[in-house]
Amino acid sequence: MAEQGSSIDYDFQAHERPLFEAWKEAGYFQRTPGTPEQKDHPYTIVIPPPNITGVLHMGHALNDTIQDACIRRARMQGRPTRWVLGTDHAGIATQTKVDKKLADQGISRLDIGREAFVEACYEWYREYGATIVNQISGMGCSCDYANEHFTLEPAYVRAVRQLFTDWYHNDLVYRGKRIVNWCPHCTTAIADDEAEYVDEAGHLWHLRYPLTEPVDGLEYLVVATTRPETMLGDTGVAVNPKDERFAHLVGKTVRLPLVDREIPIFADWHVDTEFGTGCVKVTPSHDPNDWAMGEAAGLPRINIFDETAHVVEGFGRFSGMDRDEAREAVVAAFDELGLLEKVEEHAHSVMTCYRCHTKLEPWESEQWFVRVDGLKADAARVVEDGSIRFHPARWKQVYLDWLGNLKDWCISRQLWWGHRIPMYYCDSCGWEDASVEDVEVCPACGGSVRQDNDVLDTWFSSQMWPYATMGWAEEGNDAPEIRACYPTQVLSTARDIMGLWVARMVMSSMYCTGQIPFEHVIIHPTVMGADGKPMSKSRGNGVDPLVLMENYGADGMRFGLLLQVTGAQDLRFDENKLVSSRNFANKIRNAARFVSMNLEGYTPGEPVAATPADRWIFSRVAGLVKAVDEAFDAFEFGEVTRLLYGFFWNEFCDWYIEFSKARLSGSPEDRLACQRNLMFVLDQSLRLLHPIMPFVTEEIYQELPFERDSQLLIGAAWPKAEALAKYADAQAERAIQMVCDVVSAIRSTRSRYGISPKEPLAVVVKAGADDAELLQAQRALIEGMANTASLSIAPDADKPAQASVALVPGLEVYVQLTGLVDFDAERARLRKEQAKLAKDAEKFRKKLSNPGFLAKAAQEIVEKDTAKLAELEEALAKVEAQLAELG
Ligand SMILES: [Zn+2]
Ligand SMILES: [Zn+2]
Repeated sequence: MAEQGSSIDYDFQAHERPLFEAWKEAGYFQRTPGTPEQKDHPYTIVIPPPNITGVLHMGHALNDTIQDACIRRARMQGRPTRWVLGTDHAGIATQTKVDKKLADQGISRLDIGREAFVEACYEWYREYGATIVNQISGMGCSCDYANEHFTLEPAYVRAVRQLFTDWYHNDLVYRGKRIVNWCPHCTTAIADDEAEYVDEAGHLWHLRYPLTEPVDGLEYLVVATTRPETMLGDTGVAVNPKDERFAHLVGKTVRLPLVDREIPIFADWHVDTEFGTGCVKVTPSHDPNDWAMGEAAGLPRINIFDETAHVVEGFGRFSGMDRDEAREAVVAAFDELGLLEKVEEHAHSVMTCYRCHTKLEPWESEQWFVRVDGLKADAARVVEDGSIRFHPARWKQVYLDWLGNLKDWCISRQLWWGHRIPMYYCDSCGWEDASVEDVEVCPACGGSVRQDNDVLDTWFSSQMWPYATMGWAEEGNDAPEIRACYPTQVLSTARDIMGLWVARMVMSSMYCTGQIPFEHVIIHPTVMGADGKPMSKSRGNGVDPLVLMENYGADGMRFGLLLQVTGAQDLRFDENKLVSSRNFANKIRNAARFVSMNLEGYTPGEPVAATPADRWIFSRVAGLVKAVDEAFDAFEFGEVTRLLYGFFWNEFCDWYIEFSKARLSGSPEDRLACQRNLMFVLDQSLRLLHPIMPFVTEEIYQELPFERDSQLLIGAAWPKAEALAKYADAQAERAIQMVCDVVSAIRSTRSRYGISPKEPLAVVVKAGADDAELLQAQRALIEGMANTASLSIAPDADKPAQASVALVPGLEVYVQLTGLVDFDAERARLRKEQAKLAKDAEKFRKKLSNPGFLAKAAQEIVEKDTAKLAELEEALAKVEAQLAELG
């Protein structure tokens, strides 16, 4: 069959776009009505809203394919279906981009003020917000484009204000001073899980702290620290209560150099006796552990930095220095005073801002927090009791562990772009309250009020996504969309936002709606580069889904990505799988073309399984539908693609179409029966393939005269396993499986010995009694497809002399080679090859058993060599088997 559309010049977009428009036009992207029997079970997915700063990356490509496959299958099953689409305002990400855009024009956000800046952010949203949605549509995703949501749309803003106000009135949010991860560049707090850890070759400074009064001749203690500048804020020195070296010092004081502050020496179990000297300086305002020790010991807190990490007033010459200058100056001062004991090299990891990569400063500031203890019990229960299920199942424990370790959530951000915290304050009388509506005047004194300056963490609004997009703000649980289709069915997402997003959605949904937000959580694998490392620009191992779609079509990319999904956590991107998928799409086109070119005289009608080959393929279709359903229901998308690929290519194209050729040139009745069966199997296959390869399947569905239950394949019925069960026929499957195996064995013998397909061969098959009988009945098929001179099938057949042997399950196939092969020359050739393969294999075996090599070589090299060795060993075994065959 001729190849079609295999080259990169094939214009996929030109073929795909009109089909997409046809689906859209026909209304399939909004909630579909569903069939009468399925009407009560709407199927809804909310898309993880991409950031308005985003462009389609490989993670989206995989995740959106998974969601579209689920939605399309449910739609074909007759369920009312809707895939809710929208974007996230992405507070800090967008603010950073807009800041940069303004900076390029020489404008600072501080110059233009809050209102103008927020307007500039909306401008960004209008300009770029649609980019990623267009890209999603290019993939063929059947989302509800007509009802796109945005996390800052008016109804959403109202929903967020309602939740904040409710939590405030129920004491689930509170304001407090805490140590937060502070970015001195972005001047905002950053959530723990938004921080990135970076390894740093730092130092450990050993500083002498003089005792206020010498103890037993001891004049000073030595503390070790990676951040000497924070000593300006020290309010204590701690030792472990078990540590006998220092027991007699507990209760004494040191006089802190440079600031001349008398601070206590106290005992705390948190102190690690192994770290540094065993004495630690305690800076409650600049370290979360020290904060906790300070609370327990009742130490005062001294904040030494302002919001840009410059030393505040009151520290003499250090005041006004940034943290790096302060570090140098403090160390120099200790050195001058003879109090610098020593400096060691010390590698450690530091937290950095995920937006700007500035080192974060643990900083004490006033922030808003969510009291999570009141929320997490419900969120844990609904996962423990199986109301929400994770796929793969191991993520259940990850989720529960995350919840178990959850601390109060800092939700305020010192940004301008986002949901402004709806807290109002009256400075005249001290009144304050949260409010859903704007407050203009103080209800207590009639004075003027001001709103809190901070905005909420982006995840505060994202956690409401499943129900805030369904009218919850206006009508709560009575909103029609919520009544009809809440909880949603599936949430598909990446593992890195399991805690940030998934768990928080469950917490807030349980609180706001009393219901779980979704029944199934799919944690899809992370798409890594071909080298197994995270895709990144600097590594140059990234791939762009937009380029992939140009080269392989949306279908090729979708199918090829799912083909790579296993239960593993990571997916090492393999472009060859996309090549296979593009070839597969061509195979489907070519099979359809073969059918369409043989439709002369065709009239529609029931398929009838007249021949064993018919019974076999119908039985295989029945089995396929069942297996595909099971794989879909278990969210095993890789398995779905492998089943479909194997069936369509290896069974339908390689065998059934071949078997059909003789019948198509037979009697008119036989020809018609064969046409109907071909159309039936093709039709069922297109339906099963449609959720993953929507374009090529729709294109063919439009071209061929199928008996259609829907004008468009997108709305056609999903094959029903129960209805097809009548076709199950184990005997026909066994018979034709044997035919295929025997024909394949004969063909591979031909290619192994270079025997022309035109040369008729004498073939003997040894089989068990039942198999022999089944196979006898199909001898015509074997003779036709394998070009045999003679074919004998018997349970007690002997291997003829000078014959090849092929073992296939339950059978032995002998092909007579006398007169066809020069045995001596063949043996000589094989021995030479055997020697070469053995030598090569030995080389790799030696290398791979050398501990020196294994210790030094990169993981990829070792893997490559191991694969190479396996390949050589396999080839060697084949050659040896062939030698044995020749005797
Ligand atoms: Zn930053
Ligand atoms: Zn007032």
